[in-house]
Amino acid sequence: MRTLGVLGGMSWTSTESYYRLLNEGVVARLGGLHSAQLLLHSVDFDPVAQAQHDGDWDATLTILSKAAQGLARGGAEALLIATNTMHKVADELEEASGLPVLHIADATADAIVADGVSSVGLLATAFTMEQDFYVGRLRAKGLDAIVPDAPARAEVHRIIYDELCRDVVLDASRDTYRDVIASLVDQGAEAVILGCTEITLLVGAPDSTVPLYDTTRIHAAAGVEFMLG
Ligand code: GLU
Repeated sequence: MRTLGVLGGMSWTSTESYYRLLNEGVVARLGGLHSAQLLLHSVDFDPVAQAQHDGDWDATLTILSKAAQGLARGGAEALLIATNTMHKVADELEEASGLPVLHIADATADAIVADGVSSVGLLATAFTMEQDFYVGRLRAKGLDAIVPDAPARAEVHRIIYDELCRDVVLDASRDTYRDVIASLVDQGAEAVILGCTEITLLVGAPDSTVPLYDTTRIHAAAGVEFMLG
């Protein structure tokens, strides 16, 4: 088994999901007492989130580069950045660590394209929905991404940072997400990307009339594929 380096803690509530999915994926393939051979560097999310909201992406890169270099020194053979948003600096982390990054947007786009979908809604942090590092990556794979309007984007973003990253899961917020998903479908989305690794804690298939692509699950599967080949 190849050793996977996981950059986690962004937030810890989603890293917990990744850890389970990575191990379940290995057990599904190898059975018995097998488990995922991985190194996890779980950062303190507060300074990372602060820098994101200050627009200081260099500061996030400084924190994550150090962690990624440590994973490389520890024997990791690839890097899994366990958050969509921090793929903003994926290229820089690849360069700083010398490790290939298992890109969450590529894995997600490949799964969607394989299903014959071309127009897809995107629920994520404001950074991911509004900047080009993610939507552009989807476009490069032939996908047309539809994002919610500005007030809905703000609320989707708030629920991620104020609730889901703090292990708070509220029915009222699930209703909000359902409404936003329905409006994306009205705008032509044939499927919706849960493009933030905590959203799967809040909504699932019963909350949508179209297929949902859970980036946490898809990305973890890519990690298992890397470990086992
Ligand atoms: N985990 C989230 C994501 O997938 C948001 C937290 C972060 O900014 O890393 O984008």
